[in-house]
Amino acid sequence: MALLPQEIIRKKRKGQELSKDDMSQFFGGFLKGDVQDYQVSSMLMAIALNGMTPEETSRLTLFMRDSGTVLNWGGQKENIVDKHSTGGVGDKTSLIIMPLCILEGLRVPMIAGRGLGHTGGTLDKLESIKGMNVFVSPESTQKLMKKNNGVFMGQTQEIAPLDRRLYAMRDVTDTVESIPLITASILSKKLSEGIGGLVMDVKFGSGAFMQKKDDALALAKSIASVGRASGVNVTCALTDMGSPLGDRAGNALEIIECIEIMKGQGPQSSRDLSVELSLLMLQLADPKLEVETSRKRLLSHLQSGRAFDKFCDIIAAQGGDTGMLENTRLLPASGYQVDVTATESGYIDYCENRELGLAVIELGGGRRQTTDQIDYGVGLSNLKRVGDAVKIGDTLATVHGNSKDALAQAASRVKDAYRIGPAQKIEPLIWRVI
Ligand code: URA
Repeated sequence: MALLPQEIIRKKRKGQELSKDDMSQFFGGFLKGDVQDYQVSSMLMAIALNGMTPEETSRLTLFMRDSGTVLNWGGQKENIVDKHSTGGVGDKTSLIIMPLCILEGLRVPMIAGRGLGHTGGTLDKLESIKGMNVFVSPESTQKLMKKNNGVFMGQTQEIAPLDRRLYAMRDVTDTVESIPLITASILSKKLSEGIGGLVMDVKFGSGAFMQKKDDALALAKSIASVGRASGVNVTCALTDMGSPLGDRAGNALEIIECIEIMKGQGPQSSRDLSVELSLLMLQLADPKLEVETSRKRLLSHLQSGRAFDKFCDIIAAQGGDTGMLENTRLLPASGYQVDVTATESGYIDYCENRELGLAVIELGGGRRQTTDQIDYGVGLSNLKRVGDAVKIGDTLATVHGNSKDALAQAASRVKDAYRIGPAQKIEPLIWRVI
């Protein structure tokens, strides 16, 4: 006998497990218009408060995945591997990882996202390159994968539409921070990519959504178990977001940093994390991988510029102007810059990294409302990280803006985000891999 929507909500409110039938009646009913928004928001709150068992989270994930298309690339799936991050400040590794992994024989169909909260988004960064098209038709996507073995894609209407609808409601009902809901949301999209393996970069620290290590670990365990139960090989890396990654945050500025790294230069933190996450992806495809030999090969793809050439191929195939990558002065840039400097000597002993992300939004580099246009040239460069030594007058960050008011406000936010004190034990980039 079919339960009424309110009876299914009642089950969850009382902490009971939802069956496959409950899910399809309730969430399927929502997609058909038979279950109303107010009933779904009540259900989301019941899930956020009472949680879900791992099996229940798996059921929800698969129901969300199957609300849309699952991409199929033909052939074996083992070497089709993607990476996803829970989001952070200056986190640009996806752009470096895709060409690196392709050069090592992987195929990478990457559904990427826009900036969320204080974090930047891969799609926004890519769109700072003139002509870059991330909304490609399913036929073109197949062609792009055949041509380059990699494609950057936005979540279209066809991919996990239930996630799109639930996500919009979670955002306004304070039900984003729920481990089963985050797990189902991320994995429903990633499983729609038709991949055989997934590396999840789960961030913790002041610039992450899950700031506490224990919360990040619980999320990583949930993603790993649900992903594996759904037939995808999953590795989760728990990585530090207590400092910005690399030394730039903001769309075009981050593209410049990626290019530097893909030409053998650039800051160590971004480079090292990109290489280590790439190795985890390669290990998913080949568990017997010779890690040290592969690490050397990945570094040589950066030193030789091969990774940059591959990146240009991918961007050109998606309509992007590679002239801007060859000559980064053609990328969007800001009209004004100001340095934020240290007023005492010592070490950066804490960074309220979330504030740096908010400073980028304040400058126009992210959205306050979903309809906002992004100013691609603004952001932060020369960013210091926790543990860096500084002397009075040293630059903590350079703020790039197009309005003097926004520049002043962002500069004051950046100054307040850094604390200088005695030397600190530095967090390793990767805390744990599970
Ligand atoms: N990213 C997603 O796609 N979904 C979430 O719930 C959180 C981060």
